[in-house]
Amino acid sequence: MRTNEPELGADLLVDFLNTLDVEDDVDQLADDEGHRRWAGEHGVEPGDRATTVQARDALRAIVDGEVRPLPPVELPVTAGPGSVGLGARTAADAAVASAVVLSLQGKLGRVKLCGGEDCRWAFYDASRNGSRQWCSMEVCGNRQKARTFRAKPREA
Ligand SMILES: [Zn+2]
Repeated sequence: MRTNEPELGADLLVDFLNTLDVEDDVDQLADDEGHRRWAGEHGVEPGDRATTVQARDALRAIVDGEVRPLPPVELPVTAGPGSVGLGARTAADAAVASAVVLSLQGKLGRVKLCGGEDCRWAFYDASRNGSRQWCSMEVCGNRQKARTFRAKPREA
């Protein structure tokens, strides 16, 4: 077994989804350097960048309630003491494996994109009833409240 197994799960998936920053219009996967950096930070090989981008865009759509095909990935089954799990070699593998693990745990629905139209930041909803809609109530929640307020027709 390799010593440097990626840490699969919600943190990795959320971080992967946020390689696209809608608000600041920054895509960390837009070039090979950013792609390599992200992979290095998460203990995986970059793999094919087009596949990584495809996985990212599909996973963002999926957590947002759409149905999208995922690119083909390789997910080797790993064995530990009393448990089996998934392994991952590349960035796309690790992201998809994380989504699979969360899905089997019934937690993929807790990975969400912020309801703020200009924001769309991914986050893990750890609230008790799983009803969080904003990456941050202080920022996007209040922004949306202000918008709704402004949009209300003025009373004559
Ligand atoms: Zn937000």
